[in-house]
Amino acid sequence: MSIRIAGTVSDSITDGPGIRFTLFVQGCPHHCPGCHNPQTHDFNGGRDAEEEELIAAINKNPLLSGLTLSGGEPMCQARALAHFAERVRKECPRIKEVACYTGFTFEELLEGKADGAMELLKQLDTLVDGRFVQALRSWEIRFAGSSNQRVIDVPASLKAGKAVLDTSERWNG
Ligand code: SF4
Repeated sequence: MSIRIAGTVSDSITDGPGIRFTLFVQGCPHHCPGCHNPQTHDFNGGRDAEEEELIAAINKNPLLSGLTLSGGEPMCQARALAHFAERVRKECPRIKEVACYTGFTFEELLEGKADGAMELLKQLDTLVDGRFVQALRSWEIRFAGSSNQRVIDVPASLKAGKAVLDTSERWNG
């Protein structure tokens, strides 16, 4: 299954705790003013990448411990990314945690605003949700851009049927 991507970073320390492989997907419908990655908005931009290529790139870096899906809007390719994340969990033994950034809120995803979102949520440990709001920009929040965005414990949230925040030091310290 192919994924439309803007690019990858194979040793990110800014998209979650530890050293992470970050996949920036191409295409975003939200157009938040002040977005840091406007080049990822056009759904016709970027390039198609095959899962095999991405999995090989992940397994090349022995220092990785996490995968982060970012963008762009990962929830616009939720089914393809769910399939990819499931393979990463099986085929990339160093990846202990899968996180995702989304401009949708967790509640919007539960309401079905993004096709296939539930499939991707089931593959995630952590979701950082909500649009970037320039007026709420904060440099103090470690892994989010604006203070409306939440770090969500996805398995606990799916179990509870509502957003449960991840308050761990790793994500918030
Ligand atoms: S959701 Fe993210 S990528 Fe999309 S416009 Fe907002 S900040 Fe940019």
